[in-house]
Amino acid sequence: MNSFEKQLLEQLDQLRGAGLYRELRDIGSPQGVRITVDGRPMLNFSSNDYLGLANEPALAEAAANAARDFGAGSGASRLICGSLTPHRELEETLAAFKATEAALSFSSGYATALGTIPALLDKDDVIIVDKLVHACIIDGARLCGAKLRVFAHNDADDLEKKLKWASSRPAPGASRLPRVLVVTESVFSMDGDLAPLRDIVELKDRYGAWLMLDEAHATGLFGEHRRGLAEACELAGRVEIQMGTLGKALGAAGGYICGSRALIDLLINRARSFIFSTAPVPAAAAAATAAIRFVQSREGEVRRAQLWQQVDAAKNAVINSGRALPPVQSPILPLVIGDESDAINAAAALREQGVFIPAIRYPTVAKGEARLRLTVTAAHSGADIAELQRALTTAFRET
Ligand SMILES: *Cc1c(COP(=O)(O)O)cnc(C)c1O
Repeated sequence: MNSFEKQLLEQLDQLRGAGLYRELRDIGSPQGVRITVDGRPMLNFSSNDYLGLANEPALAEAAANAARDFGAGSGASRLICGSLTPHRELEETLAAFKATEAALSFSSGYATALGTIPALLDKDDVIIVDKLVHACIIDGARLCGAKLRVFAHNDADDLEKKLKWASSRPAPGASRLPRVLVVTESVFSMDGDLAPLRDIVELKDRYGAWLMLDEAHATGLFGEHRRGLAEACELAGRVEIQMGTLGKALGAAGGYICGSRALIDLLINRARSFIFSTAPVPAAAAAATAAIRFVQSREGEVRRAQLWQQVDAAKNAVINSGRALPPVQSPILPLVIGDESDAINAAAALREQGVFIPAIRYPTVAKGEARLRLTVTAAHSGADIAELQRALTTAFRET
């Protein structure tokens, strides 16, 4: 065997030995509460499709219409000749939804962070992020070359220490004062807890820093108009860079930034993941537009109410099955197990019971903090939650 293959196989063996090996499972059905996983029917408690929109007819129809009217592909990047009417409509709809001057869509949330952070900061700047922010923010922070500082999770006092350091920092050789960007999430993706947004906004204002808020798991769920946690806290006007994804509660695909016209114009000129990448297909943009309209409708409000009802029921089911649950205020319920292999065994025992909840391990979460990440959607019924409780009780008795 040549040494390339040999080295790769050694690395794969190391991952297996550490309980960190990952593999794909084939889902042979549309996204939903009942899916087939590797050919077997399962009750699904793993998706981010919180409002049950991924397989919603209104979205699928909008995608099909856009494919018929605008074709399957986009032909080029947006700045060459790929900026199609569905992209403009999506961005107008997004800006109106979030009540910002302007919006820009990207092919994914990941591409959004990777393009946006280096468009705003360079090596003379400082970026300060929460310990638990998503990988795309860490990667964007590394890519921009700014000094990266991490504050303890949701700890405003520690954030203030980092802000003090950044604002007193002499920047040898720099031609200007450092820009300071704070980045956090509103709902944390693997823990389901909420950022102390008011404290963070007050601190970044006091120290003259900017805030980028990733509302990936809050868009569509929080706030009077379901714009996100910043709206719910009446702070949206003080968040310079509002980020989110179109692939979670909105049930489609893509990412976005909402903010001022100047911010969006700068991103169009400088965000490399936007400039140097083919535009998302028209169907994806049209599905996202339909999703935002759905979320803003009365039906969207009904879905949200159903979701919170099922979240409460699922929390009770977890506790009744004998598992502890941290105090979360979102549809993300982390059942923390600790050891990586134990988490894999627990997920396998649940699959035996017909319930699909994958094990989340390093590097998605810290080593020794492996967990089952249970997510609830508006499409789950009371009977589904009862089945969940039975499966949890049985699976944990056996492992
Ligand atoms: C999922 C996620 C992203 C990435 O969004 P995609 O559209 O899936 O690429 C970004 N930030 C957070 C917090 C996420 O959970």
